[in-house]
Amino acid sequence: MNDILTRTLTTCPYCGVGCGICASETAKGVTVAGDSTHPANFGRLCVKGSALAQTLGDKGRLLVPQLNGENCDWPTAINAVAEGLQQIIAQHGAGAVAMYLSGQLLTEDYYVANKLMKGFIGSPHVDTNSRLCMASTVAGHKRAFGADVVPGCYNDIEQARLFVLVGANMAWNHPVLFGRIQAVIQANDDARLVVIDPRRSASCEAAQLHLKLRPGSDVLLFNGLLSFLAEQGKLDHRFINLHTEGFASALASAQQQASTVELVATGCDLPVEQILQFYRWFTEQPLSLTLFSQGVNQAIDGTDKVNAIINCHLATGRIGKAGSGPFSLTGQPNAMGGREVGGLANQLAAHIDYSDKTQQALVGEFWQAPNLVQQPGFKAVELFDAIERGEVKAVWIVATNPVVSMPQADRVKAALARCPLVIVSDMYQNTDTLAFATIKLPALGWSEKDGTVTNSERCISRQRALLPAPGQAKADWQIICDVARAMGFSQGFNFSSAAQIFAEHAALSGYKNKGQRAFNISALANLSAAQYQQLNPVQWPVTEDRLQGTARLFADGEFFTASGKAQFVAVYQRTLSLPSAATPLLLNSGRLRDQWHTMTRTGRAVSLMQHYSEPFVTLHPADAALYGIAAGDFVQLSNASGQMLVRAEISDSQRSGETFVPMHWSAQFASQARADVLFAAHTDPISGQPALKLSQVALRRMSPDWQILLFTREPLSPEQQAVFSQHYLARMPLANCQSYRVGLMAGLDPMQLVQQLQFIPGVTCRDSRHDALTGYRAAAVENKQLQWVLFAGTDLVEVDPLWLNQQFSASFSTDNHLQLLSGRADQSGAIDNSALICSCFSVRSKAICRAIANGADSTAKLGKLLQCGTNCGSCLPELNQLLRQQLSLTSEGA
Ligand code: SF4
Repeated sequence: MNDILTRTLTTCPYCGVGCGICASETAKGVTVAGDSTHPANFGRLCVKGSALAQTLGDKGRLLVPQLNGENCDWPTAINAVAEGLQQIIAQHGAGAVAMYLSGQLLTEDYYVANKLMKGFIGSPHVDTNSRLCMASTVAGHKRAFGADVVPGCYNDIEQARLFVLVGANMAWNHPVLFGRIQAVIQANDDARLVVIDPRRSASCEAAQLHLKLRPGSDVLLFNGLLSFLAEQGKLDHRFINLHTEGFASALASAQQQASTVELVATGCDLPVEQILQFYRWFTEQPLSLTLFSQGVNQAIDGTDKVNAIINCHLATGRIGKAGSGPFSLTGQPNAMGGREVGGLANQLAAHIDYSDKTQQALVGEFWQAPNLVQQPGFKAVELFDAIERGEVKAVWIVATNPVVSMPQADRVKAALARCPLVIVSDMYQNTDTLAFATIKLPALGWSEKDGTVTNSERCISRQRALLPAPGQAKADWQIICDVARAMGFSQGFNFSSAAQIFAEHAALSGYKNKGQRAFNISALANLSAAQYQQLNPVQWPVTEDRLQGTARLFADGEFFTASGKAQFVAVYQRTLSLPSAATPLLLNSGRLRDQWHTMTRTGRAVSLMQHYSEPFVTLHPADAALYGIAAGDFVQLSNASGQMLVRAEISDSQRSGETFVPMHWSAQFASQARADVLFAAHTDPISGQPALKLSQVALRRMSPDWQILLFTREPLSPEQQAVFSQHYLARMPLANCQSYRVGLMAGLDPMQLVQQLQFIPGVTCRDSRHDALTGYRAAAVENKQLQWVLFAGTDLVEVDPLWLNQQFSASFSTDNHLQLLSGRADQSGAIDNSALICSCFSVRSKAICRAIANGADSTAKLGKLLQCGTNCGSCLPELNQLLRQQLSLTSEGA
């Protein structure tokens, strides 16, 4: 403990829980722990947050600006951006330039980007990847409350007794908050968790009820709940009469489609008893929180789903009260901050949109903006369509990876390839999107940035720098201000610190705000630099009469609508599209426990890559049988938009006829596993959010001629990786090398592969047992260092990856080549390559099952024996699942 050089309180850069982190720098490097004082996590971190220190370091970073593939200095890069934009504006107008931003940005970065485009350049085309994540909630909130406001706070969790999770696998995607829910359930006999999800996710392990409903039928389910509440006489008529409008039409619409539980059961494809159970629990328990996320938002009727949920809370008066309310869980660390500054194309700034000309004018007045935009711009899908059409000719992409994350990702790729000016600010040197950049701008990342973020409960926290800038990387706000000044907009962009930008942002929020606008942090507008540096987490609004912030809104029944009343919205369940003969399976996508977005950061953490090392599709056993597919087989998924080549996972967590793929893999980690190529660009007509939870695919089993494990000292170059474009390839970084799992589909054998990869010459060892029919093993050593080793067979060769990884760290003698080519330390020793369950202590399923067989019958006992689950606790749902499965096997056998 004595050797700590600095200790910095900051926040996690991953999910919208927004956990506080205490980062310590010692002579040995940085370590991270949960900040025990932060109100989001009180010291806890999940597996991703705990592994943050593994993601640090300059390796793989973009350290110098680049222009047309050549390194350049900052003045050259900034002038190239400014002149490039100015030329296009001069020829085609300001509407020909656009920015595409990210919920990873800090609020200060977001603020200047939005100000530059919407106030000074005069282009409304600023959108953000939050469009893919939260836009339906924004639209639903605005329809119901008149403002984009999450009514409650995290402390409601401890006061609630019924938790309804809709389209939210919190156990994996908001783990620390889920831990708080689990604690309430364990401590209170009357507390219950209901999970509404077409998949049996890890969150179901803690649930008393799982409604495995037909995908997309959520509106019907909640319309049924509204009808049921009315029928049972459980409406809060006083609240409805005093504080809401539109109830009669919302109820009529609900009753039209969902007048009986039987009708709901048929539409949702659920047993009547399960629906009744949920409805009774909700009816009886006023302390009910409904938490929702991407499963609600990412749909063609995402906004209606949000309002169907809010309708039930308004009808019971369960809003603005401790322990109850609808609760949107943001996906990203600063999705909320982006919404506050106006980062979405249909917002202007500071919660002012384009619907009120008087409010709009205030923004122009405050900014003294020469070119204030008057109309909304292109939302994300529209933006890339406009780039494809050639209407937008310059796009500046900041801190996001649309070539992986956008629907119809191959179309996005093609659109960027033909866009005359693509500027990309990023912290890494290789991403799928950077490959299309004319100008690359090196940006600071987490651990170097300084600013603020806002989490799911409206809590603004500081993200503080703990390390110096690597290379020539700069803060995004600095880069944007440099470009603004180079374009002649010195007046509005003379900021010299994030603190100054925050002060202006806070002042704008309060500018002539007489209570019409929910977002108001004007009490923070005069913070000194030192006060900004010390700023503690605080929930907005933060005004002179609420200096300590505001935990909960709407307690007084006053809303931000013109009438001051909340609005019921009449919503109807849309007809659900059915799979076609050509694409007979439904496809869902989502996140994994140990990965974040497109893996640019989490893919660097070796421990996080062990949980799921390869891209996969989950199939129901009946579908697997129908297609003749076994676990681990190679499977091609395809539709008119694109195709994926992944491994099969078989589980009855899926409904029959439905499949699931993770959304994380990019071309940096796999040859054909970008999930979003399979999702058409269908969007919610109100929010513009793409429907990334529902597509349709055909499925085909693929049989590789050769299965190869390849370990290389350095990652394959993009050119080398291109050799595998028609084959299966998945990369798994290890501490000292890269490991690749390859399936050669046809037309290439391992010998040709080595040639095509142009691997370094050297001492190449061939296995004396070499047999062209069944196997081939080879390696190369140069300067006593192992460069690569390859194991090929018609079946997969079993090797010990951890032992092989060690061979890359030591001086290597070719005398040892036979042992190297055996792939393991000891031929007789067993290798455990089973699924990694606990990333913190590298505990695999085989060891856990052995411990259960030997009598460990609880997570506590497993933790004592193997340590699993004793650090961050993110694996506890999987431990419970293994316990349940193994113990039921034992009792069946008894
Ligand atoms: S729950 Fe995990 S990923 Fe989310 S903010 Fe906390 S530590 Fe980070």
